[in-house]
Amino acid sequence: MYEQYQLPYSVNALEPYIDGLTVETHHGKHHAAYTANLNRFAAEAGVDGQPIEELLANLGQIEDPALRTAVKNNGGGFYNHNLYFMTLSPEAKHEPTGELADKIVEKFGSFEAMKDELAKKAAGQFGSGWAWLSADKDGDLRISATSNQDNPLMEGEGFRPIVALDVWEHAYYLKYKNLRADYIKAFFEVLDWKKVEELYKAG
Ligand code: MN
Repeated sequence: MYEQYQLPYSVNALEPYIDGLTVETHHGKHHAAYTANLNRFAAEAGVDGQPIEELLANLGQIEDPALRTAVKNNGGGFYNHNLYFMTLSPEAKHEPTGELADKIVEKFGSFEAMKDELAKKAAGQFGSGWAWLSADKDGDLRISATSNQDNPLMEGEGFRPIVALDVWEHAYYLKYKNLRADYIKAFFEVLDWKKVEELYKAG
């Protein structure tokens, strides 16, 4: 049984950056539906005992193409939103420190340069998708974007996401309408680098 991440903050706790109705719908409807559908399709495919990271990195094990697509879309939706909601906080730490901060400077030149590149990826993603900051087992970092509910785990290159920036319209349209760039700016106001550091270290 895959369990949806439960919010440790109230649905309006991220205001004014992300509004309560958006969080309520996003977590309570979209994310909940991905979770329920993943449990149904994974059971049907006989893969429901696998840790989600392992399952998403090995989708080729599901022979039926329609079932494989269903597990990919809903498994991605489940995992991506768990990461999204667990890295947001009304008491966000706005910059990383320690090992992750050092690696970001080494790789991108500065924290601001890394944020700019991630924001650019997110703004440039055509249609629905995500922008990512990912790490590999050696602690190397990478910025990328994917369509739909795909994520770096599915690419099989050893990178796992530590920042998940959802740019589906359901993540921002109620408040920001077509102004995706404004939502991206707001996202960084509630992105908790303390949690991101924990994910980086746990790698
Ligand atoms: Mn979403």
